[in-house]
Amino acid sequence: MLSGEAMTVLNARYLREGETPEKMFWRVAEYVAEAEAFHGGDKQAACQEYYDIMAGLEFLPNSPTLMNAGRKQAQMAACFVLPVDDSLGDIFDTLKHAALIHQSGGGTGFSFSRIRPKGDRISGTNGLASGPVSFLHVYDAATEVVRQGAVRRGANMAVLRVDHPDIEEFITVKRDRTVLNNFNLSVGITDAFMAAVAQDRSFALVHPRTGRTVRQVPARRLFDLMAAMAWENGEPGLFFLDTVNRANPTPHLGIFEAPNPCSEQPLLAYESCVLGSVNLAKMVAADGQGLDYDRLSGVVRRAVRFLDNVIDRNWYPLPAVAEATLRTRKIGLGIMGLADLFIMLDIPYGSKQAVLLTADIMRFITAEARRESARLAAKRGPFPAYPGSIYEHSIGPVRNATVTTIAPTGTISIIANCSSGIEPLFALAFSRHVLGGQVLASINPTVLAYLDKRGLLTADVEEAIKRQGSVRNTGLAYHVKQVLATAHEIRPVWHVAHLAAAQRYTDNAVSKTVNLPHKVTPQDVARIFSLAYRSGCKGVTVYRDGSRNQQVLVQGVAA
Ligand code: ADP
Repeated sequence: MLSGEAMTVLNARYLREGETPEKMFWRVAEYVAEAEAFHGGDKQAACQEYYDIMAGLEFLPNSPTLMNAGRKQAQMAACFVLPVDDSLGDIFDTLKHAALIHQSGGGTGFSFSRIRPKGDRISGTNGLASGPVSFLHVYDAATEVVRQGAVRRGANMAVLRVDHPDIEEFITVKRDRTVLNNFNLSVGITDAFMAAVAQDRSFALVHPRTGRTVRQVPARRLFDLMAAMAWENGEPGLFFLDTVNRANPTPHLGIFEAPNPCSEQPLLAYESCVLGSVNLAKMVAADGQGLDYDRLSGVVRRAVRFLDNVIDRNWYPLPAVAEATLRTRKIGLGIMGLADLFIMLDIPYGSKQAVLLTADIMRFITAEARRESARLAAKRGPFPAYPGSIYEHSIGPVRNATVTTIAPTGTISIIANCSSGIEPLFALAFSRHVLGGQVLASINPTVLAYLDKRGLLTADVEEAIKRQGSVRNTGLAYHVKQVLATAHEIRPVWHVAHLAAAQRYTDNAVSKTVNLPHKVTPQDVARIFSLAYRSGCKGVTVYRDGSRNQQVLVQGVAA
């Protein structure tokens, strides 16, 4: 049932002593279904349903749920955002809280925008402030230490507003590639800044405490600096603050200042969120001509109940996190296996048809999830902060302030043996270590089935895929090459198109990297940033092929 890769991952950290994957899925299903009992539901039936969708690899919750369900401290959420205020006490209190969250398997996002700039006077001591970037290094070092005893290495996101006086230091800090390895960095971009860029005006950097202008900078120069750094090593990403806050379902509770580490989940201070993903590769209709929407609907409904139950069964690492999370009951259901689905349906990722399908799928999932959340509200009550929320004057009571998020699914897609999130395939073959340290090339099973079915799997094609991870240098037909195009072969605008299409119908945000060929220029990166902003994305991250010395994923395999 599970692939060798999946077993390797599960054995490393997910399975307990003597536990099989089946037992793991039962452990998770039983622990989560317990919530049905106190809501007057049928616990046994729910348990069986949850087991079926997980064991069938149709739906998987985020890693912390798989790892921690049934433990004494069952911390099951992947995403947290903590506030960082401008005082030494607050900065170190939050660092302690982050350490506790990392220890439990969660990732943390922070905005450092409230911290006074470097060189500012500190009234109590008459000394000079060291600025937000200096504290980033402290947080990074702490994360490094905590990871030794934690379930997984900690992951962090730091946002600094584009109008913070230390923004240039923040944008360029990773020029030194040895620093801040436990952090993703994003610049918090405002509409005012994008307008200044468009009009080539100067832009005011303001003191976060006094609101006074510290200095003016040409907006375009700052924008170009971000593009140049992202061109160099993929960071910083952009986080569009005003776009994100326009979609805030509970503006009466506060504003969004930062998302979680991979940017898919903007949260208010102290909120946490549990994610889960539907595997679209399992949702193809029996005739192979499209999606089985009835089946998808069934899985979505069960997944929503599952995730809502997780909120009740969760162990919260801090009282403030429990309070903030239980107030809005946000859940983040998303998708994985989208690239597999396109191949199965013979549609190129880089096509209008594919982009429309991405939009259709997310429109359907969000609508179904919202309906289920409304049904839950009728039985269990709406989320406590419902009065004052955007739902009060629109669709009425819902159980969850948000229902959808698209996560990277870095690990759970390996467990489900499908393509990750909404990303295209990175390579058509991957290397596999077998006993004795030998490295073997394996062709992606979806690709293999696609070629085999059409009688296209010749020895030459197989060899090309294993050597280059791609079919671009084969004699295969143009359409086949389009369907099997890998991430760097697909034109960047298509990446943005999928990101924007998914975002349009997703409550929270979407994790996706816009992959760029090695030859693009920093100006191309700037254009991608503008395009993402104009098309309504909540954030954007780029990665230029080969720009980091050490690439985590290597295309193809060395023969
Ligand atoms: P998974 O596939 O393991 O469920 P994802 O790759 O979808 O996880 O990541 C989802 C979120 O989980 C991330 O945005 C981040 O908040 C959190 N996360 C991922 N990896 C880590 C990590 N190593 N340590 C802490 N949190 C993490």
